[in-house]
Amino acid sequence: MKISFYGAAREVTGSCFCVETGDRRILIDCGLQQGGHNGFGQAFPFHPGEIDYVVITHAHIDHSGRLPLLVKHGFKGSIFATEPTCKLLDIMLRDSAHIQELEALWASRKKRRAGDPATEPLYTMEDALRVFPLLVPCSYGDTIEIDESVSFAFTDAGHLLGSAYVEMWLTENDPAKGILKRKIVFSGDIGTPGHPMIRNPGFIDEADVVVMESTYGDRNHEHSFDTVTELAKVIENTLVKGGNVVCPSFAIGRTQDILYHIREIKERGLVPSVPDFLVYLDSPLAKAATKLYSEELADYHNEETLALIESGIQPLAFDGLRIIETSEDSKRLNDDRTPKVIISSSGMCDAGRIRHHLKHNLWRPECAVVFTGFQALGTLGRIIVDGIESSVSLFGEEIAVRCQIHNFRSMSSHADREELLNWINHYKKKPDCVFVVHGEDQTCKNFALRLIEQDFKAIAPKYTSIYDLETFEPFFEGKELLQRSDRERLERRDSPVFQRLMFAGMRLVEVISRNKGGANKDLAKFADQIDSLSNKWDR
Ligand SMILES: [Zn+2]
Ligand SMILES: [Zn+2]
Repeated sequence: MKISFYGAAREVTGSCFCVETGDRRILIDCGLQQGGHNGFGQAFPFHPGEIDYVVITHAHIDHSGRLPLLVKHGFKGSIFATEPTCKLLDIMLRDSAHIQELEALWASRKKRRAGDPATEPLYTMEDALRVFPLLVPCSYGDTIEIDESVSFAFTDAGHLLGSAYVEMWLTENDPAKGILKRKIVFSGDIGTPGHPMIRNPGFIDEADVVVMESTYGDRNHEHSFDTVTELAKVIENTLVKGGNVVCPSFAIGRTQDILYHIREIKERGLVPSVPDFLVYLDSPLAKAATKLYSEELADYHNEETLALIESGIQPLAFDGLRIIETSEDSKRLNDDRTPKVIISSSGMCDAGRIRHHLKHNLWRPECAVVFTGFQALGTLGRIIVDGIESSVSLFGEEIAVRCQIHNFRSMSSHADREELLNWINHYKKKPDCVFVVHGEDQTCKNFALRLIEQDFKAIAPKYTSIYDLETFEPFFEGKELLQRSDRERLERRDSPVFQRLMFAGMRLVEVISRNKGGANKDLAKFADQIDSLSNKWDR
């Protein structure tokens, strides 16, 4: 029985883990890499056709965005997720496929002008559409027995509508060792209490092994920070000066949080100088998600929000909210000089319409950009938040950063350090091993050390590492992630075909490690074949 770490290992995005028991291989999450990623692109270091099932913790793109790629490369099994997650995935993956196709089209135009061959999209709408029939919607709390060796259940993680921890029970019948049973919990993203609309995160009592996130494993949120009042102040000060407030935001989750707060700001009259200010929601995906939140998924809200609805208040609706549909209307927004609030995606500014809003507002000192979510290393959002660069490159133009930059960490839907420690200490008996993932390199390592101080066995696994789920010894130690400068060099230098070759090499190392303990005759034959292949290509 073993576990492999194929993403979010010493980084925040690209969540993807694989457990193996007997001849079953189950993938937990299949997220897109965002920002600088690990230098090996989005390709999988395993064969998607060999995966039997996938379980998805929640709909965010860094946990689900490579599902169409998985299907494109031969995965045919079932994909289990909570009912709200399945509904959100339907809009999320269509949107992601659309972005992939558009980006490939743009890149191809550029390349054609340079006489180079066209760029293939990572995946197409057709690939995304092939995901949906494989989705199996599940209810929170139900134990689902996939087969005799695997069963699992979802518990509310309080991070996004539909978000869940996965409790998984594995059984392996090894002729040599007998029956081995393990319970493993995947935290997905752990929410924070008191978040708008979302129920408070739950706890789990028992596990042999826990794979837990650590996004904010090195800091605590400022709980005394009054988000509504502070956001109102930024809006008032900016609009009075004639500037725009630009909010880069995840279309699903964070956008609805901002709308929820702005409704309250308007209701309480917290922007007295411009009480009727206009708010533009410029993201077709955010529009679709907001509709789902307000209609089909309304039952999943927390009690406070249900009470609002009961009293006749629509939590995400208010006067002055305008929805932008087409990209032409989105661009036209830049010509309109009326001060306004613009909410657009992507949340980390690495794609989408937000990029042209940044181009038209970053250089204006009277404007403000409000970040409300975690900005992964290597993303444009991170570069702006860190404030190191005085200008950024957008659409081939250098744009000066002169506007006000605000980072509202209090709006995070991730648990902070104390809440993470509280969560892991809630287990009745300490788990035998905690794998710390979904945090930046240093954060994962530090959080693991903090757990070790508290007498846990904790490991911050590396990308592509493989561990035995009985002894917690590594079969394969994995790759050190590349530094950003190395990554950029690698990405510039290596063609996609070369990257694929690198992956094939990494897979070979993995296959070698899997054969440890095999018959001498087989191992010798394998070694001979590798030698002969190497001799052929060593030039
Ligand atoms: Zn998330
Ligand atoms: Zn995440």
